Amino acid sequence: MDLPEIRAVARPRTRDDLPTCGAESAWLAGGTWLFSEPQPGLHALIDLAGMGWPALEPSAAGLRIGATCPIASLEALAAATDWPAAPLFVGCCRALLGSFKIAAVATVGGNVCLSLPAAPMLALTVALDGVARVWRPDGTEREVPMAGFTTGPQRTVLAPGELLRSIDLPDAALRRRGAMRQASLTAHGRSAALLVATEETGRFALTVTASTVRPVHAAWPAAPSREALDAFITDVPASLWHDDVHGAPAWRRHMTRRLAAELHQELLG
Ligand SMILES: Cc1cc2nc3c(=O)[nH]c(=O)nc-3n(C[C@H](O)[C@H](O)[C@H](O)COP(=O)(O)OP(=O)(O)OC[C@H]3O[C@@H](n4cnc5c(N)ncnc54)[C@H](O)[C@@H]3O)c2cc1C
Repeated sequence: MDLPEIRAVARPRTRDDLPTCGAESAWLAGGTWLFSEPQPGLHALIDLAGMGWPALEPSAAGLRIGATCPIASLEALAAATDWPAAPLFVGCCRALLGSFKIAAVATVGGNVCLSLPAAPMLALTVALDGVARVWRPDGTEREVPMAGFTTGPQRTVLAPGELLRSIDLPDAALRRRGAMRQASLTAHGRSAALLVATEETGRFALTVTASTVRPVHAAWPAAPSREALDAFITDVPASLWHDDVHGAPAWRRHMTRRLAAELHQELLG
């Protein structure tokens, strides 16, 4: 949709060109959310497309995902790598509700910075021990583990003016086996529960998203029993279960328990 209140669009090419992103400004990535609903009070956009950040940089250390990497490009990388965790790229990219047209434009950075509970790039990057590189407005940068990046629906640890530059997935995490499960209230609805599990020689990790207001992540050094996994879900505080038109909290908790049991069976059974 048109955003008639926008008065200025900046197109920086280098870090030195970046204007301050104040209260009435927003970083523009793919724009699939920014242009999907009215943005009252927003008067300026800072378009990140011209920064020219590499989308995907595989190396011996792992994979660096540029914040402006289109979700479809990450999905396509899966076929070109032999990381055991690569099938999770495909599953999580396809968990985005929206056609291929949205996935071709929507970015990994935009998805995690928007931080909807159903953000599949959050599920992926938390499950694979991602670390976000954040540019501060004073020219310095800091690292944030993705497990702590999102604090609630559309809330992150980014301070005013901070910018997500990239997310690093370590090689060790990419070498783990992974599996995921998704549940929606309707056949093609937004994720109401999206779980990713990884396993490596008995070490098991579970990431719960979409059913909770922020990602909930836990790792067990040795294979947990079904009962231990169930107890972990039981212990998730009531305030963390998400409640909106895509599912009631009790149903989301029930589905989370059921999908976690399926993941336990698939990776450890
Ligand atoms: C039909 C449809 C279906 C959708 N389905 C889903 C879904 O299933 N799950 C889901 O999570 N979302 C969904 N969305 C919402 C949205 O399209 C996605 O979250 C998308 O990934 C956002 O990425 P973008 O690059 O388009 O972000 P933009 O719209 O450009 O930006 C989103 C937000 O992130 C901020 N931002 C972007 N990049 C950065 C950065 N590098 N640093 C700091 N802040 C930044 C922007 O300022 C803005 O506040 C859907 C949208 C549509 C239209």
